[in-house]
Amino acid sequence: MIFVALGDTEAIGANCYFVKLDGTGLVLDVGVDPNEEGPESLPRFELIHRNPDWYIDHAIVTHAHHDHIGALPVLLREFPHVLVHMTRVTRQLADLLLPASARLQRRRLQEGRSSYGPLFDEKQLEGYSYLYLTHEPGQDFSVTGLRGRSPVRARFYHAGHVLGSAGVLLTHEEDGRRQRVFYTSDTNLRPQAIIPGGDYPEEPVDVLILESTAGADPEAERTTRRLEEERFGEAVRRVLDRGGSVLVPAFALGRAQEVLAVIDRLKREKVLPADVPVYTAGTMRAIADLYDRTRFVTPRLDPSFEVFRVEQRRLPRRLEAVRQALAEPAIYVLSSGMMFERSLSNRMAQLLVEDERHAIFLVGFAREDSPAGRLLAAAEAGAEEIVLDEQRGPQSLRCEVARFRFSGHSHRRDLLRLVERLQPRHVILVHGDEDAREWMADNIQFFYPEVNVWMPRSGEPLEL
Ligand SMILES: [Zn+2]
Repeated sequence: MIFVALGDTEAIGANCYFVKLDGTGLVLDVGVDPNEEGPESLPRFELIHRNPDWYIDHAIVTHAHHDHIGALPVLLREFPHVLVHMTRVTRQLADLLLPASARLQRRRLQEGRSSYGPLFDEKQLEGYSYLYLTHEPGQDFSVTGLRGRSPVRARFYHAGHVLGSAGVLLTHEEDGRRQRVFYTSDTNLRPQAIIPGGDYPEEPVDVLILESTAGADPEAERTTRRLEEERFGEAVRRVLDRGGSVLVPAFALGRAQEVLAVIDRLKREKVLPADVPVYTAGTMRAIADLYDRTRFVTPRLDPSFEVFRVEQRRLPRRLEAVRQALAEPAIYVLSSGMMFERSLSNRMAQLLVEDERHAIFLVGFAREDSPAGRLLAAAEAGAEEIVLDEQRGPQSLRCEVARFRFSGHSHRRDLLRLVERLQPRHVILVHGDEDAREWMADNIQFFYPEVNVWMPRSGEPLEL
């Protein structure tokens, strides 16, 4: 087996892994780096073009977050014969999110905020969507390549991360021996508010490609979801009582719907007043609709729960109308989760940040160099100013800032448990910054010394 990370591995960037199994060439995920733009954000496809022994027969996309799917149209343009596999809901999400991404890229160019043209347009996407093959978790499908010397089978497992998300098990034979490779992708062993915890192969695997997002987050393992929900409810209540509003920046896919489910419970339990307005906007509403429409056919804790059971107002488009809305205490659940510049959550934060009545509550993972990461660090350091938007410059930081752990990722002790359960001979650590992967590597080596741990750098082939 050959494994090559085509995206950045020093930080959490584009997820895209080339795997060659006994003559078959695969890529696992085809993401973009959310912190880069244009060609800089893409996986290094040129490595495949350059090496005559490397080629791609099939692409497997585990879920619809941009860092896992955002470069798929570019892959299909460069390698038009590739067959793409994903779950049915991920395909529905792709049909929603990839065109939205194309529109956003075009707008950034028009507004002069990017010097790069869009990587793809909506017209191309229409054609590509027909090429996606869908499979349900638990179903075996073939991903054997043209030059494959033995059959390669794949099977999706519910990953417990977001709607449609899956880990994938690859089975093939090498030198007459059966080999099992499991890629966790983003995974969560425990239930969230809507989505139940992940499923994993019953039998041991040979190679485990393991995410390590929370590897450097000791807090996450010390708390429980229930405790975090309680703490969140009390904190929101306090802000509303003093006449302030709460902004919850959240990823449009996953975190937003999960937070709405938590708000629903807190309202039912009367922790929060039933009539406090909840504002949502944009793609997250379309995604919430898909969560609701697929609630009987995808894994749920409670199939009767609908995200739109939580009464939601649409965020007004005009700034003046938003200012007027702020006269009344409310909760705003807006994307992006990392508060990237020009996103709704970033613009809303600019309105709230200078008033001590208001609060910004972060609920998911935020890279240190993202506006959300910088806001959290500034608040913890007691800084008086924060730059949320480069063009606007510094603003005074007076609102309350706090973090709650409603992550869609497993905490690091659970990831170790997964190693114990799957008994791999090799673990390849991916999707984590340097500290996170180092903690994971140290601990796997300490608790399971028989396991070989690898932390390959971007572009460096690993042969197992
Ligand atoms: Zn994800």
